[in-house]
Amino acid sequence: MNMQEYIEAAESALLHTYNRYQIVFDKGQDVYLYDMEGKKYLDFVAGIAVFALGYCNEEYNHALKTQIDKLIHTSNYYYNIPAVNAAGKLKEVSGMDRVFFTNSGAEAVEGAIKAARKYAYLKDGRTDHEIIAMNHSFHGRTMGALSVTGNPKYREAFEPMIGNIRFGDLNDIESVRRQVTDKTCGIIMETVQGEGGLLPAEEGFLREVKALCEERDILLILDEIQCGMGRTGYMYAWQRYGIKPDIMTTAKALGCGVPVGAFLMTEKVGQNSLAAGDHGTTYGGNPLACAAVEKVLDLFEKNHIIEHVREVGPYLEQRLEELKEKYHCIVERRGVGLMQGLVFDRSVSDIINRALEGGLVLINAGTNIIRFVPPLIISKENVDEMIAILDNSIGS
Ligand SMILES: *Cc1c(COP(=O)(O)O)cnc(C)c1O
Repeated sequence: MNMQEYIEAAESALLHTYNRYQIVFDKGQDVYLYDMEGKKYLDFVAGIAVFALGYCNEEYNHALKTQIDKLIHTSNYYYNIPAVNAAGKLKEVSGMDRVFFTNSGAEAVEGAIKAARKYAYLKDGRTDHEIIAMNHSFHGRTMGALSVTGNPKYREAFEPMIGNIRFGDLNDIESVRRQVTDKTCGIIMETVQGEGGLLPAEEGFLREVKALCEERDILLILDEIQCGMGRTGYMYAWQRYGIKPDIMTTAKALGCGVPVGAFLMTEKVGQNSLAAGDHGTTYGGNPLACAAVEKVLDLFEKNHIIEHVREVGPYLEQRLEELKEKYHCIVERRGVGLMQGLVFDRSVSDIINRALEGGLVLINAGTNIIRFVPPLIISKENVDEMIAILDNSIGS
């Protein structure tokens, strides 16, 4: 079948939950993707902040192939070597104490919510605890994760959500304080909002939320699914602020393409929340997924990924600022490191389509923001290459 025939076959078989771009990608190498017709694209999406190490990293591929030939899956009723190694490394880079592996980001959020509720339940025996989440947040599509997602557009048709969720505004401590009651068990937010518009939590705000949590014994849950794994120049974005969450979630780049996520917690929460029988998963933390996590964390260290982000991130920022100066239709640049957004005064879909024609993969966040979440291995030359195509796509 040719590319058009695959697209038609996809449209007749897959549930239509995405308006897809008319491309079938066939292979990837480093920071480039190739469609079925052999056309080459520079990739500034990385499968939505997933493929941090670029496509076909030899060591990564080799680790997966080796694990496939050994053992792909057992069950969480037994121990497996990759899970032990991956959990140990994840503890080390995060400074958290306990790890639960999931299959996706949304599932990590579900686990985090359950842990927070159980922690509060063990304290006071109540079953009506509340969680505070942020407006414009995104935490995933399952019912629990959707319930804390601060975007009514994603929620409305699926009401009722899980109960007792209240919303405040990111970077407005008073709006959060107003939602606190004696039933509040957790405050959940993305350290840098992704889908909601590449908006970082400010240091002062985070510190005040942390202080509020400590004062009231509320658990701070930071969702690092998109902004984590080195993207902001820190392994986890909260590490730049000198605060620590009680629970955090990670996924996307954690497995660099193998579906895996995790929620992590401090020892205090670990000892006083989910216990045997409270939570589980068939696949979560299986040997194949964990072999990926283990190798990803190895390669982050060996290839100095975070140092690299600290060098290229500011360069991307500078080049985007230059573009903003050049075009009136660009109203703002936002973000940190290799997680950037350009806010336009109009829909960005035409620009993204022209960029694709020009051999550049970009993605939106909302209707009027272009999001830049490239593989973390991009070079300054790749940034220049991206800017040239984007410049053309805006100008034409
Ligand atoms: C993508 C994302 C999720 C959901 O992850 P899935 O793997 O798609 O379930 C949750 N939170 C944030 C911040 C995300 O960016």
